[in-house]
Amino acid sequence: MSWANRRSDVSDMAGSRIGLRSRLRMNSQPVTPKPAEAGSAPPAQPASAGFPYQTSNSFGGSCGRLALTNGRVVFPDRISTDRALIIEAGRIAGLAHPADLDTDIEVIDVAGRWITPGLIDIHTHGAVGHTFNEPDRVAWTAITRENLRRGTTGLLATFAPTPDLTDGLAFCREWMRADHAGTQVLGAYLESPYVNVAQKGALDASCVRAADDGSAAALLAFADILRVFMLAPELPGALDLVQALNDAGIVPAAGHSSAHDTHVAAAMQAGLRHVTHLWSAMSTVVREGPWRKPGVLEAALTFDGLTAEIIADNRHLPATLMRLAYKCLGPDRLCAVSDALAGAGLPEGSLYTMGGMTYDVHDGVGMVLDRTSFAGSATLLPQMLPVLLDVVGIPVVEAVRMVTLTPARIIGAAAEIGSLEPGKRADLVVFDDAFAAQHVMLGGKWVSRTGE
Ligand SMILES: [Zn+2]
Repeated sequence: MSWANRRSDVSDMAGSRIGLRSRLRMNSQPVTPKPAEAGSAPPAQPASAGFPYQTSNSFGGSCGRLALTNGRVVFPDRISTDRALIIEAGRIAGLAHPADLDTDIEVIDVAGRWITPGLIDIHTHGAVGHTFNEPDRVAWTAITRENLRRGTTGLLATFAPTPDLTDGLAFCREWMRADHAGTQVLGAYLESPYVNVAQKGALDASCVRAADDGSAAALLAFADILRVFMLAPELPGALDLVQALNDAGIVPAAGHSSAHDTHVAAAMQAGLRHVTHLWSAMSTVVREGPWRKPGVLEAALTFDGLTAEIIADNRHLPATLMRLAYKCLGPDRLCAVSDALAGAGLPEGSLYTMGGMTYDVHDGVGMVLDRTSFAGSATLLPQMLPVLLDVVGIPVVEAVRMVTLTPARIIGAAAEIGSLEPGKRADLVVFDDAFAAQHVMLGGKWVSRTGE
């Protein structure tokens, strides 16, 4: 735990606003960004009225160059405090000494704040009254804008099993083909209908299907956008489906499952490599006579080759369990996810729906109305950083990795996003000391800031 240290890295904390200024070039050492790869330019982001900087600081395209100075820049393995972060043509170009900046580069002093990669939430259903299960522009715009404002620059639109699942996936495909102002939708995460009813949690039991009933083909037709596909590996037909998912380049995940560790091991042979929200809707050790039978949980905590999620909202899991997962898996195999539903961003007591189910926000978390189960979180991913840091006690570099590079690796997107390493897309967040997002950059353009 390094709460004291991370507050003392930078002495100059003065200033509450980011100021724009130009600097004279102090010597002849140029900033040398990695050459942009052919065809790797980020998609143009549409202008978005109401967001700051769109007119004063439009540095998309090939000529925009920007230096962020006086920040605590969080890399996967360290924090840099004495170098400027250079952004060029929508990409991270690298670090430079502030005295070495060219005269034509725009300089922004971030006044000692944190600079992290944009957060990546691979399991999130919705926010502000809407879910991705609604094939509707208004819903998706509201969800992705709220996420972006908070500091999440990429997400997987996550679907719970509903009767109109393929409509939602078709809408997701269309959405991804166009440019939008909110958080980038990187693909879809399916909490599939192939779950164990005994572990349904908040899912609609009437939508549960058998993996071998032929219904999976209609879902596999969306292999181009599906990134993660969750199922219960102990059910008939599940292993064949895991194999098919693996062959299609989709990450098979275990969840809403009563599997023993032996089922998980067999599924790993077929390609299983991820586990959905630890401790939520999954089996743990049981006794059969004198014999202890480990469940999905123990398999996830001990088997090499699996990655896993925790819902770090400080409601689903007490600190001891989050710490146990972190100690077992480490920050490169364990990621935090919001599993947020429509209640995120709504006040206490708000009712919301997903498919045919109705839930409410109760004590800061989503709940089914009979209080037998949580129903997703009411917390978006950036709001989980203070939990990882202050409740679980994870150092800044590792906590940031658990919401950026690790989820990017899990979904195979780490070559493009997930860290501030040269060549990657310039998706980043300027956070204040309390890790509330102050400014958000997507593809080299400022797109949002909060608190004003
Ligand atoms: Zn979920």
